Amino acid sequence: MPAHPKAPEGADAAAWETLSRAMSELRALAGVSGLLGWDQETYMPPKASAARGEQVAAIEGAIHDRLASAEVRGALERLEAHPPEDADRAAAVRELSRDHAQAAAVPGALVRAIARAQSEGLEAWRVARQGEGFGRFAPALSRLLELRREQAAALLPVLGRPGGGPAPEPYDALLDLSEPGLRVVALEPLLRGLCAWLVPLLDRITARPPPDDSFLHGTFDGEAQWRFTLELLDLMGFDREAGRQDRSVHPFTVGLDPSDVRITTRIHEHLPLSAAFSTLHEAGHGLYEQQLPAALRQTVLCAAASNGLHESQSRLWENQVGRSLPFWRVALPRMARHLPQLSGVSPERFFRAVNRVERSLVRVEADEVTYNLHIVLRFELELLLLRGKLEVRDLPAAWDERSERLLGIRPPGEVEGVLQDIHWAWGAFGYFPSYTVGNLYAASLFAAARRALPGLEGAIERGELSGLKEWLGRNVHAVGRRRQAEEIVRAVTGQGLTDRDLREYLERKYLGELA
Ligand code: ZN
Repeated sequence: MPAHPKAPEGADAAAWETLSRAMSELRALAGVSGLLGWDQETYMPPKASAARGEQVAAIEGAIHDRLASAEVRGALERLEAHPPEDADRAAAVRELSRDHAQAAAVPGALVRAIARAQSEGLEAWRVARQGEGFGRFAPALSRLLELRREQAAALLPVLGRPGGGPAPEPYDALLDLSEPGLRVVALEPLLRGLCAWLVPLLDRITARPPPDDSFLHGTFDGEAQWRFTLELLDLMGFDREAGRQDRSVHPFTVGLDPSDVRITTRIHEHLPLSAAFSTLHEAGHGLYEQQLPAALRQTVLCAAASNGLHESQSRLWENQVGRSLPFWRVALPRMARHLPQLSGVSPERFFRAVNRVERSLVRVEADEVTYNLHIVLRFELELLLLRGKLEVRDLPAAWDERSERLLGIRPPGEVEGVLQDIHWAWGAFGYFPSYTVGNLYAASLFAAARRALPGLEGAIERGELSGLKEWLGRNVHAVGRRRQAEEIVRAVTGQGLTDRDLREYLERKYLGELA
């Protein structure tokens, strides 16, 4: 059988050839850009920061120019008028058309300015965190906000209006880059509804005495922790011949290709859970990247459908699997082989300890109950910033006030408050909601996996995780960008973005299993 469906004739065939070549080159350039970014966070010497900024700006500029080119536009117009019969080709045209419209709407000079401002923002944020304070970061952040406003204004005219709906606002244009199709008008009530049951649930849980986690205090050998994280990767089925794990301050995943997926973790000698859960999280992202449709790697379809769907995969492995009792029945004996001071701890005690819920300051260390409140805090502030109703200089005070209102706790300093996340250092406004979207999809997908795979808990307890990995591969990862994120989830769960499954999951666990 031929590897590719029958090629169309004449001008359509030539147009497809043009797009095919462009998509291959764009993919290669995106891989180079990803590798530069990976290196920047892992092995790049500190003095290389300015030079790296220029390199990234050059690559991003080249990607933008190629994507926005008249040649690509011409070929797209031809194929939009005569859509390919092959469903994958038609989907590739649709998705490339979306990417092209977004790129063409934003001038190349603005793209390059953003890339440079990102490097400067990152550097200023690092210095600010090292003691100079928010004032050192504020000018770079103001510059990024200004550039993102310009970008949003440029994108608004090409932004779709799903289901009619009111006219989109600048924040929508940035939100759409992470979650295609999601709008403030739908997100705001969803988050309000979430807070309405989450805050009382948190009150109920924190009214109880916290579980004993005294065995997690002490010093845990860093090299032994590292070896345990590698064992976790193997347990999950992350292919270390098609990817690797390194260390970074802020763990992340970059997929250069299904055959080359880079993840990082972080080791704290006094926080033995940090490395384990960072690895579970990033390897969840990593499995998505490794199970993308490699046969379509020469098109834009060999990529995740949205940031939120990507996050659902990391959160599903971190929380629904990684914070369950069956998982620690298999993982704890392995962990104790590397860290013998844990050998007297029962899986039941460990399960309770890894599900300690508390009002804490730092999002990335937050438990699964409070986590979404951290996102609501950031979403509210970003929306005000983009709407011009909050000045950058007033951000620290606004942060502290919301932290007290939503989480019931006020940060003692900026490092645990307004300076804690790397996202604003990249000017990544509109990105945070994807984390909550991810938590919601994770709960819905795991509920569907439990229905589809009877005995899933028993399999997890025996360390047999391949069934779950393959189910996710088949139903989510291998779809690539052939469908939008919400359609992918709906096809599996029968419903779109909802907080119903997360609520059921958290209530079953915290008011049932852990009560
Ligand atoms: Zn993540």
